[in-house]
Amino acid sequence: MKAIAIFCGSATGTDPIFLQSAQHVGEILAKNNLSLVYGGGKVGLMGAVADSVLAHGGRAIGVMPRALVDREIAHTGLSELYVVENMHQRKMQMSELADGFIALPGGAGTLEEIYEQWTWAQLGIHEKPCAFLNINAYYQPLLDMVQLMVDKGFTQPRYAEMLIQSDNIADILTAFKHYRAPQAKWTNANVKP
Ligand code: AMP
Repeated sequence: MKAIAIFCGSATGTDPIFLQSAQHVGEILAKNNLSLVYGGGKVGLMGAVADSVLAHGGRAIGVMPRALVDREIAHTGLSELYVVENMHQRKMQMSELADGFIALPGGAGTLEEIYEQWTWAQLGIHEKPCAFLNINAYYQPLLDMVQLMVDKGFTQPRYAEMLIQSDNIADILTAFKHYRAPQAKWTNANVKP
């Protein structure tokens, strides 16, 4: 693995542990020689992860739609900043650059991004792992919803089981190393995002 995409809030959240965890994630990525791929902003947990990666000598790659460069305040100290035309290109580019995806606490944007990668994994568009850094059980209601989707017959168990969740970033990276993608949903389909 060379690069990990981190999806996380453009806010820092109310609990200081979110910010501390984001900084810790940045440090661990840098120390493991893993490049950060993220939204490219300076704000919120996104900015904190990037600052920490850079402060620890790592490589931070941002991908930001032109229209957000001012609003999310593009980080000016990044190793690389890709400015793309729209949100779809952002997610496509982040997906191509990264070898795995981790959601830290965040809002609707964060959920949308990790969920999309999870759905692409189910369709066999990629075979990369998806994880939730479940700090202070922030993602428990969502993981309960995933289980409900399985129980009610809308999601196959293997797609729930493929999701990695832990409150420890090192455990997630270890799980990434051992990850084996589940069989895709429609095995004969040549699906394009
Ligand atoms: P949030 O978790 O809502 O604070 O958003 C975190 C990041 O997700 C921000 O950088 C947003 O620009 C980004 N985001 C929000 N919606 C989308 C979307 N539909 N596609 C891609 N990125 C998004």
